[in-house]
Amino acid sequence: MKAASTNDQGYTWKAGDEVTGLFNFEGKSKEDLSFKKGEKIKITCPTRDPMWYQAMNEVGNSGMIPANYVGKNGPTSDKKNGSHIGKPWYHGDIGREEAIRRLNDCEDGSFLLRDSTNYPGDFTLCLIYLNQVENYHVLRKGGKYTIDEEVFFDNLSELITYYGNDANGLVTELKIPCPLYDTNKWEINIDELEVGECIGKGEFGEVHCGIYKDQKVAIKSLHDKNKAGEFLKEARFMMTLKHKNLVKLVGIVNKEKTLIVSEFMEMGSLIDFLRSRGRTKIKKSQLLGFAKDTCEAMCYLEENSVVHRDLAARNVLLSEHNVAKVTDFGLARQAQAEVQGGKFPIKWTAPEALKSNKFTSHSDVWSYGIFLWELYSFGRVPYPRIHLTEVPEHVQKGYRMEPPEDCPTEMHNIMEKCWNLDASKRPTFKEIKGSLMTFS
Ligand code: ADP
Ligand code: MG
Repeated sequence: MKAASTNDQGYTWKAGDEVTGLFNFEGKSKEDLSFKKGEKIKITCPTRDPMWYQAMNEVGNSGMIPANYVGKNGPTSDKKNGSHIGKPWYHGDIGREEAIRRLNDCEDGSFLLRDSTNYPGDFTLCLIYLNQVENYHVLRKGGKYTIDEEVFFDNLSELITYYGNDANGLVTELKIPCPLYDTNKWEINIDELEVGECIGKGEFGEVHCGIYKDQKVAIKSLHDKNKAGEFLKEARFMMTLKHKNLVKLVGIVNKEKTLIVSEFMEMGSLIDFLRSRGRTKIKKSQLLGFAKDTCEAMCYLEENSVVHRDLAARNVLLSEHNVAKVTDFGLARQAQAEVQGGKFPIKWTAPEALKSNKFTSHSDVWSYGIFLWELYSFGRVPYPRIHLTEVPEHVQKGYRMEPPEDCPTEMHNIMEKCWNLDASKRPTFKEIKGSLMTFS
């Protein structure tokens, strides 16, 4: 997945684009903008989720719309443009099981077209009716497409339009393309959430453990409604970020309270782990493992142009098997207004980010250097003898922390490179990952 407004299916809307509803879209949350097939809509802003755009209808209502429900020139242009690539109903090479999963909760007449698994080059039309997914083999014969070998089509769009107007022998006509993403998977019904005891307290509020659909989860409540609003705007995008070293976001409750539900990390935060065990109990190889895990997650965020802004050992959590996973990505964005406030992580933040609010992957790299220092000092607070208000000045003048006791030289070298005043001269996470791979 790439950042900004291009996705794998090739939808690229930009602000100002006039689009037309290809299908009826019934919004499921307050933020969505519902529309009818044929309705004219104007794109106002891409979001970081390539599948969702901010848009406005002709009477001036605005909200979020799914990219694959609208087309540039309206439904009629489908006939002219024969390619199935980029069509909302074309899901590519997803296999039978995945197709069934995607259609599972959809209403009758929902459909998708996927590459045929058994007949490479052919397609399979999957259509749900009365809780049953029917699969139809779309045969390619003499450059044309057919299901029944009676009616032939020049392209798949024509085939879809034909079976959309009338069932013509299928169980039902093709009504709604199956969403490429489940439109509202991120919103959790509070009745399905069992809230347990409080397990921690952070700057945004309390953290509780709990159960959601038989899965152990952590529930973070955001007390500040402003922060919650900002976070929710990003939530859809955050749900699309998936990596083995990122704490998985399960979903969000947005009622009187805003709750962020994420995967439960049995071993708690890395900072507590380091402090409670210390150098006598933690092996060097384990520290290197944490450094690598964290770097992998940051590499993934870097590739996706996501800036964390609050990378620190307290925001790295440990799974039951001591795999380190980065959390709270995206939450930090709201904290920027509080640079002056006591909670801002001054000791972790790059000089240019503190001074000019320039938060980039390069500033995350600076924080990663501080993170490594925390790791190899077994959880000490950075710049131990300097008051935090004095840190920026010292750093600007060239002061850098000494390597922690027994810290491997090559690890200290990485820290120093991360702490280059010139952001563009710092290594990228990809480069750091390359170096870490050579360490043992
Ligand atoms: P902070 O990052 O300021 O320490 P947080 O609100 O992020 O505060 O988290 C507070 C504490 O809650 C963490 O230190 C950790 O012990 C616990 N915690 C947070 N998220 C999870 C999670 N997904 N699984 C288990 N424990 C968690
Ligand atoms: Mg945190």
